[in-house]
Amino acid sequence: MPKKDTHFCIKWYDKLDSTKKPCSHWLQQGKTQGTFFCIVCNQEKSCKNGGWSDIYKHSQRQKHLQHLKNIIESNSLHPPTISSSSSTHQINTTDESILTFDEKVIRAETYWALATAKLGFSYNSSQHIQELFSHMFSDSHIVKEFSLKPRKLSYILSHGTGYYFNKMMLNDLKKAPAFTLIFDETITVGVRKQLDLYVRYWCESKQEIVVRYYKSIFLGHATAEIVFRNIIDTLQADEINLTKILMLGRDNPNVNKTIEKMMDQYIRLEREKQ
Ligand SMILES: [Zn+2]
Repeated sequence: MPKKDTHFCIKWYDKLDSTKKPCSHWLQQGKTQGTFFCIVCNQEKSCKNGGWSDIYKHSQRQKHLQHLKNIIESNSLHPPTISSSSSTHQINTTDESILTFDEKVIRAETYWALATAKLGFSYNSSQHIQELFSHMFSDSHIVKEFSLKPRKLSYILSHGTGYYFNKMMLNDLKKAPAFTLIFDETITVGVRKQLDLYVRYWCESKQEIVVRYYKSIFLGHATAEIVFRNIIDTLQADEINLTKILMLGRDNPNVNKTIEKMMDQYIRLEREKQ
């Protein structure tokens, strides 16, 4: 029997690379399940044979270490500083005295990144924002260090704030007694199938039912079996209790019936185990 390819795993973001720092500084999932993307080398590589060891080996490469060093020295990459255990640890970012100058710069960049997401600006709209702010706030030292090109902006949103909000949402979801999983398959440019996942659940803090975006998975040509497997793997990777799924939501009751049957069977089996 042929060996099954290893899929990229989001848990690798928290693992330490050869420099003893979390890989989230430079690691992203590649275009397919079996590849990863190195932000500092700007390179897509395979991890389907070795899995985590492919990632670690890449982090040891001389070229990669040099790229990483260059970027840290030029201070163009501010890694997210949220660790998995710090979800309850809150820093009061309005208290000026406890922040260093660099942290104030990061805070300004984060505020702008959040505004970009909230107001629906494009990443490219930040291309010359530093020049504009420099003219507007000419007496500010922070604005002189402020740098937010589109690529960095997208990085901050996906691995900095996005990572943080996703974690908060998952913690919230785990407190709910049950939830509905909503999924939607779309064909994007180049016939790559995109599977969007949403959850609907009772939010304890808001005291109401909320619908939240969970994540997008990119699939090639995907059969029902592959879609089903991906959903299960993703939920398990985030330690979401599958037996709490109350309902499946989708855009049309006549599509994806096979997936519904598979999920139903799987959840019944899981419940019997309890
Ligand atoms: Zn690299």
